[in-house]
Amino acid sequence: MLLEINDLVVEVNGKRILNGVDLYIGKGETHVLLGPNGAGKSTLFLTILGFPEYKVVRGEILFKGKDITNLNTTERAKMGIGVAFQNPPAIRGVRLIDLLKIESGCSLDEKLDPKIYRFATKLKFNKDFLSRDVNLGFSGGEMKRSEILQLLAQNPEFIMLDEPDSGVDIENVEILAEMINKLLEKDKKPSKRKKAGLIITHLGYILNFVKAEIAHVLLDGKIVCSGCPDEILEDIRKEGFEGCKKCYET
Ligand code: ADP
Ligand code: MG
Ligand code: MG
Repeated sequence: MLLEINDLVVEVNGKRILNGVDLYIGKGETHVLLGPNGAGKSTLFLTILGFPEYKVVRGEILFKGKDITNLNTTERAKMGIGVAFQNPPAIRGVRLIDLLKIESGCSLDEKLDPKIYRFATKLKFNKDFLSRDVNLGFSGGEMKRSEILQLLAQNPEFIMLDEPDSGVDIENVEILAEMINKLLEKDKKPSKRKKAGLIITHLGYILNFVKAEIAHVLLDGKIVCSGCPDEILEDIRKEGFEGCKKCYET
């Protein structure tokens, strides 16, 4: 198992947000986490990442068999967890190209790996764009594409994406999806992949372009059902997220 979450209970500012989440992601698997606004999806994401405001009051998170519940975010990133944020912050004074150099493990006075320039071009960024301050004045689509470019530079073993498809037009979603498929090694069979992923999506739009093996529905801080993504999406379309409670209660 690559990521193992047992009975996770999380509080933010003294308010309980996650109520006993269990989640298991094996090597090479892509999982998707669906759920309405406010269900706790981003809370789960930021807790896996180790943001200090998200207090684990019960349960544990294991990554590659190691308990990471009390590690800081940098230590988790070093172990191979990479993320794309739903709303990444702007970093005034830090150029995107320099961040890409750091993320790809080279020093600032070295040239950026030509491979990353090729990824940038695929993501519709030109050289000038890479000299801009990270996320400063970026459009929604540019921010999402920049997050994916940074992941391509970092090349982590486990990739978490928080709503890569929200607020993004169809053209941008297709460009993003192509590179997400590349990140997750979707051209290989799950058993041959070195990468695994957790894609958070409100309505599952991205699943038209990136295939996941397993879907989970998060409702009120609990995973209420898991299974085949197409079947779960069909149920949500018919009965809404509340309809997913049934399989949990019975
Ligand atoms: P989702 O990503 O599924 O839309 P979130 O995890 O962002 O849901 O939020 C779940 C609940 O936790 C919401 O009620 C939200 O207001 C609350 N919450 C999240 N982060 C914080 C925070 N830093 N302080 C207070 N409440 C928070
Ligand atoms: Mg939300
Ligand atoms: Mg969210």
